Amino acid sequence: MAHEEPTKSTPTTKLLIRNIGLILSGDLAHPILDADAVVAINGKISALGKEKDLDTTAATTTIDANGSTLAPGLIDSHVHPVAGDWTPRQNQTGWIDSCLHGGVTTMISAGEVHTPGRPRDVVGLKAMAITAQRSFAALRPSGVKVHGGAPVIEHGMIEEDFKSLADAGVRLLGEVGLGSVKDGETARQMVAWARKYGIQSTIHTGGPSIPGSSLIDKDIVLAADADVIGHINGGHTALPDDQITALCEQSQRGLEIVHNGNERAALLTLRLAKELKNLDRVILGTDAPAGSGVQPLGIIRLIAMLSSLGDVPAEIAFCFATGNTAKLRKLDCGIIETGRAADFVFLDYAQHSAGKTLLESVRLGDLPGIGMTIIDGVVRSERSRNTPPATKLPKVI
Ligand SMILES: [Zn+2]
Repeated sequence: MAHEEPTKSTPTTKLLIRNIGLILSGDLAHPILDADAVVAINGKISALGKEKDLDTTAATTTIDANGSTLAPGLIDSHVHPVAGDWTPRQNQTGWIDSCLHGGVTTMISAGEVHTPGRPRDVVGLKAMAITAQRSFAALRPSGVKVHGGAPVIEHGMIEEDFKSLADAGVRLLGEVGLGSVKDGETARQMVAWARKYGIQSTIHTGGPSIPGSSLIDKDIVLAADADVIGHINGGHTALPDDQITALCEQSQRGLEIVHNGNERAALLTLRLAKELKNLDRVILGTDAPAGSGVQPLGIIRLIAMLSSLGDVPAEIAFCFATGNTAKLRKLDCGIIETGRAADFVFLDYAQHSAGKTLLESVRLGDLPGIGMTIIDGVVRSERSRNTPPATKLPKVI
C-alpha cells in the first residue's frame, strides 16, 4: 500500500471511535485514560474524552468499539526488513502484514542485514541504506510504518560519511557490531558522529546471533554509548548477569528487550529497571526476521510474558511497546494524546481466558485478542487472523 499523507487536495477525513471500554494511553505517567471516545482529523488525534463532551458531528468514519480496549498501535523497536513485505531470511512474504495482525503499526529497522550480497564497502553500504530508506518511505506494507535505511558501520567510514547519510535522509544506524567495527573506541567515534548529524544508533549486545556474527560484551557496549542497548537480553545468547547489571546501572541508554532473546535475561533486565526506577528505559522488539523466523505476535507475547512473570501491571507493560519507544525514538505515534498520529489497536481478553478483563488476562499471561488496527486514521485490518479470538470486537458503522 502506498504512503498516504493528506495533501491540500485531500478532503478532510474525520474518524470517530465511540463506546471504548478502556483506553491505554501508552504513557507511563498515566497509563489509563478516563475517556470513552477519540476523534482524529486527517490522521491525527484531535480530541479525546467523554463522547457527550466532544464534537462528533460530520465524522467520515465511525467505529463502535463495543466496549473493547483502545491502545496505541504497537511499535517493534528491532526488525530486520529487506524489501517490501519479503524477507529472504526464512524466505517468507507477507511477514509485515502478519505482524499488523499482531497489533504492530510501526517498525524500526536495526539494519537491512539480510539483503543477499549485502555490500560491506563504504559507498555500497551507504547506497543500500539510502535505497532502503527511500523504498520504505515510499511503500508501507499493509500500511505499516517501517522506518528503514539503517547502515551497519564498517571500518573506513569518516565523519563526512555520516553527514552525507543524514543529508540523504538516513536517521538510523543498524546494529553496531554486525559489521567490521567491533572495538569500543571506533564504535564510540562513529556513534558520536552519527549522533552529531541526528542519526540514532543501536548496538548488538551479547553472543553471536548466527555464524559470522560476534560477541559484543558490556565493555564495548558502554564504550560505544549507542542510543539503544539492542537486545540487552541477547539475540539469543545473553551476557552474564553481572554484565547485564552493569549495563543497567552504568548507562542511561534504552534497554531493549527482544522476543528472539533469552527470556530469563529479559526478566533480570526488567527487575533491574524496576529497582533503578528506570522503567521508562525499557522498550521492546522482536529482532525478527531471524533464525527463529518471524513472530507476528512477538510484541504482545513479550507484553504478556513481562507482565505475568515480571510482576508488572499490564497497562505498564503496554507502555514498553508504545510510549516508551516513541519517546526514545522521537516518533509522533505511540501515545494516545491530541496531536499524535491516529495509530491504534483494539484489544479485548481472549475468549475463555481465565482473566475476565483485558488487563487481568494479560497479567495472567494470556495473549489478548486483537479486533482491529488503524494507522493514520485509516482502518488497516479487522479481526486478527493470528490472535486468539477477542471476546468483544469493534465494528465500522
Ligand atoms: Zn543483534
